[in-house]
Amino acid sequence: MSPAFQQAALDYYGLDVRYEKWETPEAELAATVDRLRAASILGANVTIPCKEKIIPLLDELSDTAARIGAVNTVVNRNGRLMGFNTDVEGFVTSLHEDADCRLRNRRVVVLGAGGVARAVVFALLNEEVTSVTVFNRSLERGRRLVSSFARSAGRIPLAALPWTELETSAALQDCDLLVNCTSIGMRYSATETESPLGADLIPKDALVYDLVYNPEETPFLREAKKAGAETLGGLSMLVHQGAASFELWTGKNGPVDIMLKSAREALR
Ligand code: NAP
Repeated sequence: MSPAFQQAALDYYGLDVRYEKWETPEAELAATVDRLRAASILGANVTIPCKEKIIPLLDELSDTAARIGAVNTVVNRNGRLMGFNTDVEGFVTSLHEDADCRLRNRRVVVLGAGGVARAVVFALLNEEVTSVTVFNRSLERGRRLVSSFARSAGRIPLAALPWTELETSAALQDCDLLVNCTSIGMRYSATETESPLGADLIPKDALVYDLVYNPEETPFLREAKKAGAETLGGLSMLVHQGAASFELWTGKNGPVDIMLKSAREALR
């Protein structure tokens, strides 16, 4: 998706810059990263599975990228490579802008404990939510995520619970915000027709945010609507994290509406 909407943003400003997709086998990661130091290159996005592996190859990290342990944006500053993580900003801004939701004092349930869940939990703690409960299929991975943010959590209750406890969880029923950070429901995956929760388990007063963006209306969002909950789809975060990367490379505001329109066209 990024090549489509980043190019649309570059073209909007009439910048003579091309956003290219470089398939990079792991063995070639170091050499490819080195190519980013060329004066003609503004930077790069990094995606799974390189978000962590790229860190030792960079010269400097933003505080956020260092604390999450993952980089999604690289900026070339005169041959020095700086690593950033704009997923955090993308998540928070998307909630503000597209769901009028401020995170302070919210009770939040996070489904999943992979890469994007780390950025989401970091953002939630930073924004001083009331509590964060993480459910993950692999409880061990959920616990690792929670223990790595124990210090940032301070007095905010942060817990990892087994996926099998979702059905009986008071935390789920009492939450104000429910975020799906699993890949369940993603198009072309083995779970593309599945929802992490059925309508009967989705609290109707919660805002349900599915970070899966392909398809735009996921099975989870359909179940949430059936339950009567307010919903937000993952394209919102995708575009806002992209806009934040665009700003780091160009110093210009990401044209969010144009980027969203282009992302929607690419999805179709
Ligand atoms: P990841 O690191 O591979 O993590 C995947 C997560 O999904 C893990 O928690 C995994 O649980 C869980 N999972 C997968 N299949 C499951 C199943 N059948 N039942 C229960 N749990 C299951 O991936 P990621 O980078 O965090 O990305 C997760 C999703 O978020 C993807 O769909 C991605 O496209 C989306 N995403 C969206 C944005 C955005 O801007 N909207 C940004 C980044 C990612 P285990 O730990 O037990 O395996």
